[in-house]
Amino acid sequence: MALNKFMHPRNKYKSRKPDFKELAAKYDYFQDASSTSETGKVTIDFKDPIAARALTRALLEHDFGVKVSLPLDRLIPTVPQRLNYILWLEDIIGQETPARGIDIGSGSSCIYPLLGCRQNGWSFLASEVDDENILFARKNIEQNAMGDKIKVVKVTEDTLLLGLLEGSTETFDFSMCNPPFYSDHLEAQGITTARSDDRSDASSISTASEVESIAWGGEVRFVSQMIEESLQLKNRIRVYTSLLGKKNSVQAVKDFLQKKKVPKFATTEFCQGKTMRWGIAWTFDTTVVFPKSAFKEQKNAKPPLVCSVQRGAAGLQEYTVQTYIWFLRKLVEDLKINYYTKHCGKFYTCLILQAKSNTWSHQRRKRREREKKMNSSEPLDTPDCKTIENARAAEPQVKDLKEKCSESFEASVDNESEHSKEDEQSATKSTGDNEKMLHEDEIMDEVNVVKEKPDLGLDSEEATKGKKRKSTDYETDLDNKSKKLKENDEALSSDGVNKDKQCEPVVNLLKGPQMLSRHQIVQQFKKEQAENSASNAVKKTLSFYEKSEPFSENEECLLLCKFVLKKDEGEMSLALTHLAGNRETMHQIMQFFKNKLSVPST
Ligand code: SAH
Repeated sequence: MALNKFMHPRNKYKSRKPDFKELAAKYDYFQDASSTSETGKVTIDFKDPIAARALTRALLEHDFGVKVSLPLDRLIPTVPQRLNYILWLEDIIGQETPARGIDIGSGSSCIYPLLGCRQNGWSFLASEVDDENILFARKNIEQNAMGDKIKVVKVTEDTLLLGLLEGSTETFDFSMCNPPFYSDHLEAQGITTARSDDRSDASSISTASEVESIAWGGEVRFVSQMIEESLQLKNRIRVYTSLLGKKNSVQAVKDFLQKKKVPKFATTEFCQGKTMRWGIAWTFDTTVVFPKSAFKEQKNAKPPLVCSVQRGAAGLQEYTVQTYIWFLRKLVEDLKINYYTKHCGKFYTCLILQAKSNTWSHQRRKRREREKKMNSSEPLDTPDCKTIENARAAEPQVKDLKEKCSESFEASVDNESEHSKEDEQSATKSTGDNEKMLHEDEIMDEVNVVKEKPDLGLDSEEATKGKKRKSTDYETDLDNKSKKLKENDEALSSDGVNKDKQCEPVVNLLKGPQMLSRHQIVQQFKKEQAENSASNAVKKTLSFYEKSEPFSENEECLLLCKFVLKKDEGEMSLALTHLAGNRETMHQIMQFFKNKLSVPST
């Protein structure tokens, strides 16, 4: 099942499917609801409410020692999915911590309180509006001897938390809820929403009654009311949570939490089979730590772009990080990309790059412009238009490398410490005769892949041969990216702009909504942190970005990325990790570096 790999790691159904044969042998009601083939294979019809009920009963009894009675005309819960929610709560509250919680809408099964009580010894105050559900829920509590731990009270439909707690001063560790999803009958029947939004799996039956599946305004209104009420209750409930049945609801509820300035909230995914549900948690107690969503982490974990640096790349003779970082830093500077050094060492150097505009594409065009200007003896103005003399004049910077390295090494707060010892020693090592290793034409000459062969998936050399590059270094299909670049080109010409004369409009194209201010980036990082979806790279960068303020507040930025040059087991590689801004530009920059790092043919 596609989503099972994202099930909660402690969910016992993640790697072990229920053994129907065993269940049929053990429980008569399951035997009666299932069919056995000639080969002895036991199957059930998930669309048959009797079979669905038998499965839920059998799993609760077999795997949790919990006995339940369920009416056929009410919601029949699926055990693995309900377990995901309990396990997520365990992650927030702590396993087997004697906690007290609220369950809004226990249903007839009273499944959350029964599981929470059996697994962790939690006690519950549960509410329910439907008489039949209350009857069954109480029966289920009774037959599992949990009467002293779980209480179900009848409430009216407009009652959520405030009404339930009226007249008491009791405090709770958490609240949970599986709210009615739909706003009306049309939605419940899938007429106004996609079928996948249905409470049950497409392949299974929904026996939910009207009051169980329909709430005025749907689940967003239901949970929003809970949020409103939590603003009054604040720390009387330490962690407020709810399940959400529809993806659209997640953003709407998050927006509402933000609007109401709730200090901390997190979302998670509950995955089972082909069904996905979401969990939302919020708190006014900032000591609460929300667990990371395994699903989001795996989904967001975009690997860095990596390019191996061959011996002799760019014609440099010394195969050391110092030599190449000097070369690459110069390229970065020539491209007018802001950077600051997080770590500088013998085997590992880490920079944070902040690109303000696209200065790396259409280099050929820019060179032509340069040449024109040189011919007309106009002054040169673009950063990559340095003459050899200019480049030589810039060379003393290289001598500063030693100081730069030591400075930034000390300034580094990064914990990439495995490199530190050797790096500390090497930070004082002179870069020696690096100057003479830089080929003059490496400064001047651009490898014109973009214009001549706008396929960024081609290496410079191969591009001229029209041969497809091996794509192992890249996370996505670069062909699409090159197409976009081409489209940019076309957009320019259709605007009637003379391409040969213009290079700046490319920059303008990439400006506008894609540009982020430092403030926006910090806000974005903070949001990711608040939602607990920030990667480690982002967390580290945020502290840097906020504190050391290496880039001006008002400056707009196209891309923020981490740049790592390292030598591992004798081999050097360059990696770019996206932090914020336009991801595509990172591919372009990497391609630019790759072109520069090609090994010249002798
Ligand atoms: N917790 C169960 C049932 C979820 S269905 C499960 O996960 O299987 C939603 C339940 O909420 C229904 O039983 C419905 O009757 C109940 N309900 C609807 N509005 C309610 C309200 N305002 N207060 C308490 N329960 C409510």
